[in-house]
Amino acid sequence: MMGAFLAVSACQSSDNADFVAVYATVETVPVDAAVGDDAADDPAVWFNAEQPLESRILGSDKKRGLEVFHLDGTRDTTDAIGRINNIDVRLGFPTSTGPKGLVGGSHRDQVGLVFWSIDAQGIRRLRSTALKSQLEDVYGFCLYKTNGTFYAFVNSKTGDIEQWELTATGDSIDGKRVRTLHLGGQVEGMVADDALGTLFVGVEDEGIYRFDALPTGSSTGTLLEASTAENPAIAYDVEGLALFAPNDSTGYLVASSQGNNSYAVFERTGKHAYVGSFTVGDGTVDGTSETDGIEIAAFSFGESYPAGIFIAQDGANTDGTVSKPQNFKVVSWAEIAQALLAKKP
Ligand code: CA
Ligand code: CA
Ligand code: CA
Ligand code: CA
Ligand code: CA
Ligand code: CA
Ligand code: CA
Repeated sequence: MMGAFLAVSACQSSDNADFVAVYATVETVPVDAAVGDDAADDPAVWFNAEQPLESRILGSDKKRGLEVFHLDGTRDTTDAIGRINNIDVRLGFPTSTGPKGLVGGSHRDQVGLVFWSIDAQGIRRLRSTALKSQLEDVYGFCLYKTNGTFYAFVNSKTGDIEQWELTATGDSIDGKRVRTLHLGGQVEGMVADDALGTLFVGVEDEGIYRFDALPTGSSTGTLLEASTAENPAIAYDVEGLALFAPNDSTGYLVASSQGNNSYAVFERTGKHAYVGSFTVGDGTVDGTSETDGIEIAAFSFGESYPAGIFIAQDGANTDGTVSKPQNFKVVSWAEIAQALLAKKP
């Protein structure tokens, strides 16, 4: 399937009519906010390798805290810890009771980084207070793991990025700043490619920059050519970023193109050529619009999601004609791959 999907990379989409539509199979329970509030923001996934169907979808409520959902969209738990903006997950974080998932997020009230462990028993705060950032405000956030070392990146709206090295300390976590990066313009969405050692950062009205993710790497970013408005498929803001990384070499980088309610797909490697764009249309579950954060988990979750899941925040959640508070939509990655493949002439 992936080989055939790769074949569409030569087929450039030139206008929105070319965007293919896919449909969500599941939506999460809405966040605990008023209709019309911009509250749901950024999703993440904890993959349960022993029981994939017992994996969890996590979502930030940027007014309230962290939400945890089952794969069917029902709520598992909420931690009303404060204004969590963006979140991310990595597996294999050492604790006294064995390796667990690490959930991290940017905490705007505490201007710092907060962390939880996650396993089949649920989430547990690893710290009672945030690791304090020196940024004026914290906004975007992502994790990066290489050779057993965990890092976090956090950014401010003004384009400053801190890189933290994280260490397990018993059942807590500590960290130190190891590098700062700077971009002009408003940044938020970030994703790190653990296997290939790259960090992608979206400048909302410019495009996606690529950096070396290792703290010893170059601090100069490269703007991905296909991610700017020179590409007619991109309409600012460039918001959430996610990586489809089923192995250590091939895959895709996906960006929320907020200005035209679509998702732009680029090659994971090389010059990150543009592959095509898709939308999440109205089906059994309503479609997505004005998406902030997105996430992709390239694991098999069983029959419903054999190639993984794509999750998108929805700016305007409806049930029929009734408006609801915001939530997150879940799409089978196999459907996205097939939809883009079907465009092939
Ligand atoms: Ca929003
Ligand atoms: Ca995220
Ligand atoms: Ca934003
Ligand atoms: Ca925006
Ligand atoms: Ca956001
Ligand atoms: Ca919607
Ligand atoms: Ca809905």
